[in-house]
Order: sequence, then C-alpha cells, then structure tokens
Amino acid sequence: MARQPLGQNFLIDKNIVRKIVRSAQLQPGETVLEIGPGRGILTEALLEASGLVIAIELDTALCGPLRETFGARSNFRLIEGDAVTFDYAQIPSPFLVVANLPYYVSTPLLFRLLEQGSRVDRMVLMLQGEVATRLAAAPGGRDYGVLSVAAQFRCDVRVAFKVPGSCFRPQPKVGSAVVALTPLGRPRVAVRDEGLFFKVVRGGFAHRRKALPNSLRDEGFEAVRTAAALDAAGIDPRRRAETLSIAEFAALTDALCAE
Ligand code: SAM
Repeated sequence: MARQPLGQNFLIDKNIVRKIVRSAQLQPGETVLEIGPGRGILTEALLEASGLVIAIELDTALCGPLRETFGARSNFRLIEGDAVTFDYAQIPSPFLVVANLPYYVSTPLLFRLLEQGSRVDRMVLMLQGEVATRLAAAPGGRDYGVLSVAAQFRCDVRVAFKVPGSCFRPQPKVGSAVVALTPLGRPRVAVRDEGLFFKVVRGGFAHRRKALPNSLRDEGFEAVRTAAALDAAGIDPRRRAETLSIAEFAALTDALCAE
C-alpha cells in the first residue's frame, strides 16, 4: 500500500526510469545519492549504471524489502532516515543526486541540496511540474521567486522532460517533470555577502505584490539605507522583486554592504 502522506507515487514505467538515468549521464565510478528509493525501480537502474548508490528512505516499512532486494550488492548503502534533516556531509563528494522526490517536501529538500554547493556534481530530479517551472523561471512573472534565484544563483537549470501521471502508481494529483541542475563552479554572479544576498532576496519576495522598498521595510530593512542602496545600484524603487535579475539582486546587496 502506498503511503500518500509520504509522497509515495511509485514509478511504474521503465522507459521513464531509463530516460532519467540517461539524463544523469552516469559514469561507472560515480557516487549517486537517491532520495526516497521506495520500491527500488530507479535504484535498480542506478546500481547498474554507477559506482556507489546511497539511498535515504524515511519509510521503515520499505527499508526491509529494499535490503532484501539490494543488500547483497556491494555498491548499495541504505540509510533509514529523513532526507530533509540528513547531514549530507556524510556523503563522500563529489556525488550526484538522482531521485523521484517526495513532492510534499520537495522545496525544503531542494534548498538543502542547493546548500551543498560544489559537493554535488549534478542533480536529476523528478518534481511536481509547478516546482520545475519555478526553478527555471526568468524574471518578470509569478513563477519567479526565491527558489528560482537560489537555484539559478548556483546552477544551470534545465527542464529535461514532462512525465504523464500514468507513469506512476498511484497517479499524483499534479503534473510532473524531470529537471537537471548542474552546479556552477562558482555562483552565477559575484556578491560580497552571500548571507545578506539571500536575506535581500527573501525580504524582497516576502510581500511580492509590494514595491521592493516596502517589502524590504516590512522585513526589517532600514528604509533610508534601502533607498540609498537602490539608488546606488541604479534600480527604480517602484519595481517589485519579481522584476529583478539575479545580477540586480547582487548589485543591491553589494550597495547595502557599502552603506
Ligand atoms: N523512487 C521511487 C520510485 O520512483 O518509484 C519512490 C519515489 S516516491 C515519489 C518518494 C519516496 O520518498 C517514497 O519512497 C517515500 O517513502 C520517500 N520519502 C518521503 N519522505 C521522505 C523523506 N523525508 N526522506 C526520505 N525519503 C522520503
């Protein structure tokens, strides 16, 4: 029985599994992290194509059968635990992440994985379609937000292909897509204080219908300093966060540092 609260929509289509593995361009010696191996349809293909597969599964009821099926393989490790709170420093780097993610926690998982920076070589992830769109969104629309900036600041993002609901059992209630994220050697734009950069991005989008200075003020940024920094960065104070490119967020952050 699939446990819906744990986002258990199991893949049943081996063609999609092959397409995911092909998108990951796995090499024989590589280490792959799989989040949520479930019943192991993707795990099996990953074990064939890579060096070491480390799988993290939260549902203990699935861990027994996974051990029975794959336990004898020397390149399989299973961690029973929660991938949202897992300490990824335990995984030898560099590693790849290939997974059909549990959708109910896909956003916190993405932030955790993006935090790993260059320890991750590339990621190929099945996500709900809406999250895939947000990851790849350009400035100017409602899909563009903190997740888009965080992903594109660190990675090249490509929506590889869409996956119909009929490829899962049970079928998810939302559309699905596979996204490839390739971490950049260094962030897309240089910024003096990364912590402040993300505070500015989060503050800007916290009240996304408001002009940037008002949203930032409501999030505790001093109005006079924000006004001066916007001026120094050449950003019209009437603009909203969703219109700013990553380079403009960086320019605003650097101007705030200089204030
Ligand atoms: N990989 C399998 C497949 O493609 O058929 C299962 C994918 S299913 C969408 C998501 C899997 O993630 C389930 O096995 C679920 O139990 C597991 N899961 C849910 N929450 C988790 C968490 N916080 N940490 C690790 N695994 C989790």
